[in-house]
Amino acid sequence: MEENIFLAGQKPITFAEYLRYDKNCRNNLGAEVPVLVYRMLEFSLKEELRQRYGKQEQIEIFRSAGKMAGEYFAQTYLNMDQPLDRFVGELQTKMQEMKIGVLRIEDVDEASGKIILTVAEDADCSGLPVLGETVCNYDEGFISGILSLYSGKPYTAIEVDCWATGDRVCRFHATVEE
Ligand SMILES: [Zn+2]
Repeated sequence: MEENIFLAGQKPITFAEYLRYDKNCRNNLGAEVPVLVYRMLEFSLKEELRQRYGKQEQIEIFRSAGKMAGEYFAQTYLNMDQPLDRFVGELQTKMQEMKIGVLRIEDVDEASGKIILTVAEDADCSGLPVLGETVCNYDEGFISGILSLYSGKPYTAIEVDCWATGDRVCRFHATVEE
């Protein structure tokens, strides 16, 4: 692509800068948009990526993008310097406040670090018809990013139940990569 000479030498803006939100810039409409709008973006992007690069690549892109967001979210909104139960409590509160979903921890295996967690009313998939496969790959990345940053260990989160597999909550298995 040809370079725009007016932008030459300008630093590309960071992820955090894209998210910068100032009340004065939407003083009538405010900070929120409907779930429908979020899903229009998510699923149109998903379709486009799938058509161009195939299903596996689309899934990897969603996971990787979710991880970027999860790391940012953890860094910006969560205190990493507290025990796991308090950290999780804070994460629950923030996820609810931001209407991402209702987080519950089902099980923590202290020895291996494996965590089983559920997200109810998930913004990405609640109400979706049964597709026979989980669809919350972005959330998988989001959770792995948060847990990796908090623990300092490389976490992978895999969704095992989803609205799209006929369940009423999304359930994730988060494990430390060997
Ligand atoms: Zn799901």
